[in-house]
Amino acid sequence: MIKYKLVCKKCQISFDSWFASSMEFEKLKKKNFLSCQSCNSNRIEKTLMAPKLINHSNEIINVEKNYKLNKINKKMEEYKTFIKNNFEYVGKKFAYEARSIHYDSKKKDKGIFGIASKKEIKELTEEGIDTGIIPWVEDKNN
Ligand SMILES: [Zn+2]
Repeated sequence: MIKYKLVCKKCQISFDSWFASSMEFEKLKKKNFLSCQSCNSNRIEKTLMAPKLINHSNEIINVEKNYKLNKINKKMEEYKTFIKNNFEYVGKKFAYEARSIHYDSKKKDKGIFGIASKKEIKELTEEGIDTGIIPWVEDKNN
């Protein structure tokens, strides 16, 4: 189904109408089956407005996108909670802390997580220190 905004050339009134397809619209128009709702004139034209069908499918896509995004955000929250509960946050001292664990065999109950630059991560990897990179979403409320 496709929705067109039609306009009457005689009285300039416009109204919406549904058609099975754009071909059906042309067919009905040719046979003068289309008539104005107010003056009954057959001088009906399609306005240049984009058919509603397209807008409608865009809405569906957006809804799906938001749904997926919400799911991802929810997963990220779970992930963050897990990390916060099981790892110690060391902030920008990550590279330093990672090295002290590695070289001093400093025993920590928890693993650590923090902020490191790409360069720091590369250096740590070269030194044989395992790091994992995780995507992170900042808490909105702090
Ligand atoms: Zn009319």
